[in-house]
Amino acid sequence: MKTAKTIAIAIPKGGVGKTTTAVNLAASLAVFEKRTLLIDTDPFGACSLSLGYTKEKTKGGLYEVFNFVYAMNQVIHRTELAFLDFIPTNVRTDVQEERLARLSENRTMLKNTLRAVLPHYDYIIIDTPPVLRGMTTNALTCADSVLIPLKPGHFSLEALDKLFKFLEWVHEAANRNLVVEGILQTMYEPKTKVTEITDRELQLRFRKHQFRTIIPKNTSLTEASFYGRPSVLFNAQSKGSLAYLALAEELIQKHQAQAQAEIPQDIQEKTA
Ligand code: ATP
Ligand code: MG
Repeated sequence: MKTAKTIAIAIPKGGVGKTTTAVNLAASLAVFEKRTLLIDTDPFGACSLSLGYTKEKTKGGLYEVFNFVYAMNQVIHRTELAFLDFIPTNVRTDVQEERLARLSENRTMLKNTLRAVLPHYDYIIIDTPPVLRGMTTNALTCADSVLIPLKPGHFSLEALDKLFKFLEWVHEAANRNLVVEGILQTMYEPKTKVTEITDRELQLRFRKHQFRTIIPKNTSLTEASFYGRPSVLFNAQSKGSLAYLALAEELIQKHQAQAQAEIPQDIQEKTA
């Protein structure tokens, strides 16, 4: 049975565009009519805000799923886009945040609870908090791949090293099948010294992982999140919206090519 491709958006650095990428990539995949589910695993709840989901409109989320109050399919929320669904974290108090942190020490929790909804989607995009434990470990344990947003700068490159070390551990201990989907440059400002140094370092050490698409610095993306809408529904012609649509297209084409490359191999195996 064909099931969703699950992509975790992760890097242990705050403010580099993880949530912006998760929301706008998920929305862009939905624009291309891919059945997409966005899952927020960050108790901060920024995905909810970016999609206009206030606490009053939220029926439940990962918090209830991890506490066995609801099953995953009972906390799926619809969005303005027909092909985009959403699962919030729904953490409302510090006590709940602490409890969720404790429950997420079981790194297979998300994987086990998500299994039943996999066949209903083409893509599942998981936003993570800027740490390498708990919910992020859960996301990396159940994902097929990890997409790494990178804002130009020294500390982002340090975070990248830290993440790659952590991915080695995940690969050994938690998820043999996890691959790097790619490194996505975000908030990109050409012709600055910092961008030049980051570009050089990426070319030197991570070239094979770089996406063709680059997300430029674009204030429209921030404005859209204030209005509680994905950028493509706020200003479809903005550079930010167009860049995330291009990223979705790049991913879809890559996955189609990979699927096609697998067919002859299957046939060969069957006929061998
Ligand atoms: P955290 O780890 O704290 O959750 P994050 O990595 O999820 O942070 P975001 O919340 O996506 O980062 O982005 C941080 C800020 O930068 C937000 O105000 C967001 O609107 C803004 N931002 C994100 N991408 C861009 C961009 N391409 N151009 C301009 N601003 C951006
Ligand atoms: Mg975030």
